[in-house]
Amino acid sequence: MSDKSKKDKSQTNLKGARHYFFLNPYGYMAFSRCPKCEEKTKIRKCCLLIHVEPNFLLSLNKSCGYCPTCDLIIVKQADLERLLIAICEQNAPDIIGNEYFVYGTMDRKAWRNGQTEKVSHQEAIKCSYPFKDIWKFEVSPAGWYPEKQVKAEIEKYPDSV
Ligand SMILES: [Zn+2]
Repeated sequence: MSDKSKKDKSQTNLKGARHYFFLNPYGYMAFSRCPKCEEKTKIRKCCLLIHVEPNFLLSLNKSCGYCPTCDLIIVKQADLERLLIAICEQNAPDIIGNEYFVYGTMDRKAWRNGQTEKVSHQEAIKCSYPFKDIWKFEVSPAGWYPEKQVKAEIEKYPDSV
């Protein structure tokens, strides 16, 4: 328990926090296995709430990688940014390329309301859940998987090597 106390200032203590989040910057890595526990990840639809600087808030209903064991949501950064650009082109073209962060998830119901009604930032934040924490994983150039698994992948997909 002692090392948990160090995390007092992280999002872990936020009320209603749900899920851990990993924004995957490695376009070539699908993370079909969880980078933390190496269990197979599932695909799950998540309603993500995203803040784009300076003050644009948008929600996305998107298929994400999900590890039920770790409660970890994995989103490919390139996919997310492609969607962000598409949305901003229609709604706020001048903020394309600005800093953004994924705040958390929303209930599907709240998300649907947001699609049909104008919802204020405050309301959107109120019916969403911040992430418990944001995780980062480093991938070494040699590859992520232990040697045994890499070999298995090569045997399965001989053409891709
Ligand atoms: Zn996991």
